[in-house]
Amino acid sequence: MRSEIAPSYMLPSGWNALLPPRSPHDKPPKEHRFHSIVVGAGYTGLAAARRMAELLPDKEVLVIEASEVGEGSSARNSGFLSPTFYAPQANAYGSADDDAARKLRIVLAGIDSLRTLVKDNNIDCDWDESAPRLVAAATADAEHSLQQSLNSLQKRGLKYLEHGSEALRATLGTAYYRYGYETEIRVLVQPAALIRGLADTLPSNVTLLERSAVEAVEGAGPFQVKTRLGNFTADKVFIANNAHARALGFLKNRMIVVHTYAALTHELEDDELDRLGNLPAWGLLPATRVGTTLRKGLRRLLIRSGYSYEKENDVRNVRSLLTEKYRRRFPAMKCYAFQHVWGGGTGITSNRESYFGELKPGLYISAGCQGAGVARGNIHGRLLAEMACGSQSALLSDRLKLAGPSWIPPEPFCRIGAMIKMAWMHWRAGREY
Ligand SMILES: Cc1cc2nc3c(=O)[nH]c(=O)nc-3n(C[C@H](O)[C@H](O)[C@H](O)COP(=O)(O)OP(=O)(O)OC[C@H]3O[C@@H](n4cnc5c(N)ncnc54)[C@H](O)[C@@H]3O)c2cc1C
Repeated sequence: MRSEIAPSYMLPSGWNALLPPRSPHDKPPKEHRFHSIVVGAGYTGLAAARRMAELLPDKEVLVIEASEVGEGSSARNSGFLSPTFYAPQANAYGSADDDAARKLRIVLAGIDSLRTLVKDNNIDCDWDESAPRLVAAATADAEHSLQQSLNSLQKRGLKYLEHGSEALRATLGTAYYRYGYETEIRVLVQPAALIRGLADTLPSNVTLLERSAVEAVEGAGPFQVKTRLGNFTADKVFIANNAHARALGFLKNRMIVVHTYAALTHELEDDELDRLGNLPAWGLLPATRVGTTLRKGLRRLLIRSGYSYEKENDVRNVRSLLTEKYRRRFPAMKCYAFQHVWGGGTGITSNRESYFGELKPGLYISAGCQGAGVARGNIHGRLLAEMACGSQSALLSDRLKLAGPSWIPPEPFCRIGAMIKMAWMHWRAGREY
């Protein structure tokens, strides 16, 4: 399967649709020579651009976005910023525990940096650190594996609070879940408002060009960056377009795009909100990788579930899948209508490690943050810029000690393998899905 040059989604982001209209920056700049060009205006790309502009205030940076800020995956996600650390494993730099500690320091730095940006720039994105962020299990197997995972939280000194079925029922308004825990570090955001706020507050030496996909990156410092709206030249290029880097010839056998789907209800009446538990807001992450995410807030319920390989599923099937999951978890609601339903793709690697680094002199890439790239993308973009400017820090050294993504076989083997794995994971997830 040939990867598309840029994502083209069937439906707009529901989060973005809740915001006032925004005019994209789609007029090509007069200047065609920049110090740096960033491909992609998601969390990774905007963070790289912002940091380059801060470190080199007299240099110009161009960010090129295929779509519009607010319509990429950075605005299609569920808005959880979580202290998760995937797949710790021993490597040449130390034990699996060392790896987990590095991953945690990185994601926490990503959350801290976003918190500072939101505060300093008055970004109105419903930043919420008080609503509980639960990880919950609906089956005995998942409960067991969640309890096992508490060890790693304890080891890292992360505080958590366990909940049984009664407490979960009061918080969530459903008897679907039998066990869960709540972490002390938790943030929920309106992701479209966050990414728009980050784009609208870029330093003045950053130019943003939207609705213009990068079609090719050629040369070797200076690089020629080709788009429909013109060609641009830069000494340094940052590839921050996630798995679409493959269509530009980078990391071809390292990532796939997995689409997942989300829906937001209309604003709910008070009695309907009461059926979703006794708090105004909460977030629930599933106990297994292919489970269903839920979130109450802004007087709505968000539900995210379902997966597909490289292509989006038919909209009617997605709507009925999400409705069925909503109905099963909250059988007492009066109505199961959604105001917005949408899909989003994200870069997935086979060993859950993302790529970060200088691929060749002057060309930097960060991609493949899995389904948890809001905080990670932000800190990776920032660190990539620091690396490009020759800065050194303990955090950059942490990041450089993480493994990269492992090899993925070519088509059709990749597709067949991914389909079998997803089917198997769905079957194993049972009620968690
Ligand atoms: C439904 C859903 C729920 C999710 N929930 C969460 C969550 O709760 N928490 C979390 O942390 N993560 C979540 N994620 C994952 C998260 O959204 C991603 O990890 C994150 O967006 C990655 O950021 P990024 O900047 O690296 O890539 P992206 O957000 O994908 O940004 C890349 C940008 O590059 C642009 N682009 C692509 N090709 C080109 C090109 N050729 N030229 C120019 N521009 C191009 C794209 O349009 C896009 O805007 C979720 C994802 C989905 C789809």
